Amino acid sequence: MRSEGGATRRGERQLHGLGVAPGIAIGAAFITEDGEVPVPEHRLDAGDIARERQRFEDAVQVSLKQLKKLKAKAAALPDAAAKEMGSLLEAHQAMLTNSRLVRGVDRRIHDERVNAERAVQVEIALIGDSFAAMDDAYLAQRVDDVRAVGARLLRNLTQTPFTAFQHLPEGTVILAEELSPADTALMDPRRVAGFAAMLGGSASQTAIMARSLRLPAVLGVPGLLADAQPGDTVVIDGFAGVVVLNPTAASLARYQKRREAYLREQRQLHRLKRVAAITRDGEEITLQANLELPRELGQAIDAGAQGLGLVRTEFLYMNREDLPDEDEQFAAYRTLVRGMDGKPVTIRTLDIGGDKLATPLSETRGNEGANPALGRRAIRLSLKERKLLDTQLAAMLRAAVEGPVRILLPMVSTVGEVRRVREAMTQTARRLKRRGEAIPDPLPPLGIMIEIPGAALSADALASESDFFAIGTNDLIQYTLAIDRGDEQVAHLYNPLHPAVLRLIQFSIEAALRARIPVSVCGEMAGDPRYTALLLGLGIRDLSMASANIGRVKRRIRDLDLQAAQRRARAIMDQMDDGRIASLLDDFNALA
Ligand code: PEP
Ligand code: MG
Repeated sequence: MRSEGGATRRGERQLHGLGVAPGIAIGAAFITEDGEVPVPEHRLDAGDIARERQRFEDAVQVSLKQLKKLKAKAAALPDAAAKEMGSLLEAHQAMLTNSRLVRGVDRRIHDERVNAERAVQVEIALIGDSFAAMDDAYLAQRVDDVRAVGARLLRNLTQTPFTAFQHLPEGTVILAEELSPADTALMDPRRVAGFAAMLGGSASQTAIMARSLRLPAVLGVPGLLADAQPGDTVVIDGFAGVVVLNPTAASLARYQKRREAYLREQRQLHRLKRVAAITRDGEEITLQANLELPRELGQAIDAGAQGLGLVRTEFLYMNREDLPDEDEQFAAYRTLVRGMDGKPVTIRTLDIGGDKLATPLSETRGNEGANPALGRRAIRLSLKERKLLDTQLAAMLRAAVEGPVRILLPMVSTVGEVRRVREAMTQTARRLKRRGEAIPDPLPPLGIMIEIPGAALSADALASESDFFAIGTNDLIQYTLAIDRGDEQVAHLYNPLHPAVLRLIQFSIEAALRARIPVSVCGEMAGDPRYTALLLGLGIRDLSMASANIGRVKRRIRDLDLQAAQRRARAIMDQMDDGRIASLLDDFNALA
């Protein structure tokens, strides 16, 4: 796409998107389209042919869906660029719709009994050669498009992340069409300075991963790949959501200054590590860390986290073909529990589905329904695939011998789900005992995420079956306002201060307080100092966030008078208009 997109302008270009992870990155561009996809090759048994043809058809459909999304994105570009990009993407769509390519691959799978990847590779090479042989400048240019479509099909067939980022030079800035959380998990912050992509919203799992890895990032940038060339100097401004290609010397100097100022502020915040998160009127607040990847453990400890308030276990299932067994999971959880040295560790069962797909569970992919965010995701999948759940519970129970572990369930909507998991936990404990394993007595607390509006509205009932609540504002906002958290086109409507969201949060907190069970907030709202006074004013005393945010939130807490925050929260909860709510909150924050 890049070569067709008219990237002849080599002067400074500013592109706008969503700033999803703070910081300034400056470095040389690496464009992930360049990634070669390794192609497995094998012959099929006669009985496997139908399944292989279906697998190819699925990859075609996924590819068409991706192109459709990109086309919608391209429409936001200035006129000429939108037209150019739109017709290019249409050409790619046409190549995937009853085309010579699709028919040829399908026939080859059937006649030659080769796997779909091999068939795609051969067919792309043949079409490319025949175009090149026609001695026609227009067709010769189309060869690149055929190859791009082939690479897309191969990526979708092999479910390869866009590329592995292991061998990049230090300070690289990654530019991509789309990056999944699994792609992002492969980025090593010692090599990757930051990244930008054409697709993705600010509450997406990819954005959360960027904040965890402390990589400045901008998502939802129309036209990104049309304008950039590999090796270009790129600035990622994760605050303002700006990507600057080939900055002038003056721009570069300005961004370098901003980067230094940010790093200076980070160092100052780090000095707060040893002081308590205590309000001016003496209320102590617990600040814990969310953890996406085990390698963040050191950062959490270094930030002074008082525990791990949310360990997302999806990392165990990413970028691999097989499922992690009990021992592997146990080893991973034990490392975290030991590392936290007696501080609580809240481990969440698998939350796969929606934008959080994992390769080894790909059989569930085709079955996720037309609307994956509402489909068999998270606890629904765990309760359906009992082995998944039992293996996780066994590993968690064993790790709980080493320190205080709490078990957290994602996407709970009914009390029946909690009861079934509690029953599974009891059975697993019995099985482990029979095997001679040590397990904790009593069993660890079993809590739930409040992230579905229906769960918030029935928080009283859920509180009677749960040992604690963790409010997941990311999904709660998505489901309350019907805003896809990963879709940059509706990102401006994703509003934590919508009165409906605040009422559901308040309702959940009050239900927990009445039932005398602990309640925390672990969605992204918890890590944004803008919302701290409001959450505290509503009764929250425990916040869990990306460890990079602990310092900023602690500084806000230490500046804050809790009683005043409570009064302001009451005033805010009387409002119906989200604009008015925002100004009441921002005015209060400005007083600090
Ligand atoms: C949430 O939904 O707020 C949450 C913390 O869970 P996740 O972001 O993993 O969906
Ligand atoms: Mg969630």
